[in-house]
Amino acid sequence: MKPASFDYVSASSIDQAVSVLSELGDEAKVIAGGQSLVAMMNFRLARPATLVDINRVPGLDVIDVGADSVAVGALVRHRRLELGGEVPGPLGDLLAEAGHHVGHLPIRTRGTFCGSIAHADPASEWCVLAALLDARMEATSTRGTRLIPAEEFFVTVFTTALEPDEILTAVHLPLLSENHHVGFAEFSRRAGDFAIVMAMTAIEVADGRITDARVALGGVAAQPTRSSAAEAVLVGRAPGAETFADAASAAAENVTPHGDVHGPAEYRVDLVRAMVRRSLTRALGEG
Ligand SMILES: Cc1cc2nc3c(=O)[nH]c(=O)nc-3n(C[C@H](O)[C@H](O)[C@H](O)COP(=O)(O)OP(=O)(O)OC[C@H]3O[C@@H](n4cnc5c(N)ncnc54)[C@H](O)[C@@H]3O)c2cc1C
Repeated sequence: MKPASFDYVSASSIDQAVSVLSELGDEAKVIAGGQSLVAMMNFRLARPATLVDINRVPGLDVIDVGADSVAVGALVRHRRLELGGEVPGPLGDLLAEAGHHVGHLPIRTRGTFCGSIAHADPASEWCVLAALLDARMEATSTRGTRLIPAEEFFVTVFTTALEPDEILTAVHLPLLSENHHVGFAEFSRRAGDFAIVMAMTAIEVADGRITDARVALGGVAAQPTRSSAAEAVLVGRAPGAETFADAASAAAENVTPHGDVHGPAEYRVDLVRAMVRRSLTRALGEG
């Protein structure tokens, strides 16, 4: 199908983009990579009267590495993060590994990190990463800029705390120290498909004990979620197969997914157990 007709504004500055959004409210939509929005328009699941294209706005394609955090701008494509080399340490490794699993190569060369987060698919790699690291989303409008924590940002499937007149100008992620070990595992039917279940983990190890643990899940609820049960099992214990199996069981016992075309709810629960254990094992460079 073809989209319903729409007006098109190619913004040349962030001020212009937010002033059009402020004028038109929810009649307008931002377009970045177009990899989700255009498909939704073609299926008439989205019918914006006006598209505000931000691709020609200068200054949005930056990865700004600070002392303890990195800001990923609104025009940073998936592929740039997958290729790596700009974000140091374990965070850079996790971005490269997860980025490789976002769709197919043409999607990754065009789609944006911030677009994924604004789109808020609960099985999106970047949404799970934002939940894992307590990312802060920088929302800009004619009223100014505010930072929204991940916990408040993801409201439900395809719904965020962004107001219709706000642009997600950047996402701020904390840099991880060299004591952090990061792991990623997802299960999908075919390479390039959205994951059925995904787990991302970051554990900090000092003197042979886990001193900090983060475990995030995708595909099990309406938002990307943290598994506080798995995290509680991990902290204070020695990293290893038994600890990871216990954490994986705790994660599986504390999710309540729905069954769907991929299988019954129990199938997803089993996948949670397998993916959490696999991502923790990979965090230690095994598996
Ligand atoms: C076949 C296929 C497979 C895919 N597989 C995966 C996958 O495995 N994992 C995954 O995560 N994604 C997957 N995707 C989606 C892809 O990653 C998209 O690039 C991403 O979801 C949206 O980014 P975009 O820049 O293309 O956004 P767009 O399509 O331009 O916009 C998406 C939505 O976000 C809004 N938006 C975009 N940028 C901003 C902004 N800066 N501020 C405010 N609102 C904004 C738009 O208004 C729209 O509502 C897949 C897509 C396809 C077509």
